[in-house]
Amino acid sequence: MTTTTTKRTHLLYLTVDADTRRELRFADCVEGVEVYSFDGLDCGEEITVVLPRAEARARWTAALAEGYVWTRSIVELPPAPVAAAPVAPPAKPAAPSFESEICSRCLGSGHFSRCRMYGTTCFRCAGKGRTLTKRGEAAMAYLRLLRSKPVAEIQPGDVVEIPGGGPFPARWETVDAAWIAAGHALGCSRGGMVRVRQTREQSAATWAAALAYEATLTKAGTQRKASKREAVAA
Ligand SMILES: [Zn+2]
Repeated sequence: MTTTTTKRTHLLYLTVDADTRRELRFADCVEGVEVYSFDGLDCGEEITVVLPRAEARARWTAALAEGYVWTRSIVELPPAPVAAAPVAPPAKPAAPSFESEICSRCLGSGHFSRCRMYGTTCFRCAGKGRTLTKRGEAAMAYLRLLRSKPVAEIQPGDVVEIPGGGPFPARWETVDAAWIAAGHALGCSRGGMVRVRQTREQSAATWAAALAYEATLTKAGTQRKASKREAVAA
């Protein structure tokens, strides 16, 4: 059985000025890659050569460096260099999963005025472009609570969160006897509560509970009266 080579083509155009463009085409062929080049001028030079793949790829890279704009791709060949143009704007990070709204400071762009340390990253949303609503914030606080234990109940073997601050990110630490002896100061800043790492099942359960809680909240992030009554009845 023979393998048929699929004809694959890339077209690349470079705008030299409004009327002139150069064109490069890469097409897969049995011997390697057929490269067609046309300089776009009237009576311009037109060349077709067959190159080994590595060399075709080098031409491709060089053409991109020269400013060729990759305008059409039927199938990928040769594998496009990383810096293929035009570059799509980076995808926005996923929005928080609790109820969120467009950041009021940067209006969703994630960028605000520039500073030396953080560039243009918006401080309010940390560049996400969205912030939690009051309802979302209350649900997030509830989730933290569900995932925390009073510091007095922490057992050796628990994995607890050591909160970060400033340039220090939060980290996780496994509790041992020495931690228990020294650790009581830790919870004080969070109302005596310490966040405990969840198993996969706990994580799913607390997440579901927090989403259910969020559904009972008013826009202001407080419990609806009916929900309060239900909670009392339960
Ligand atoms: Zn923002």
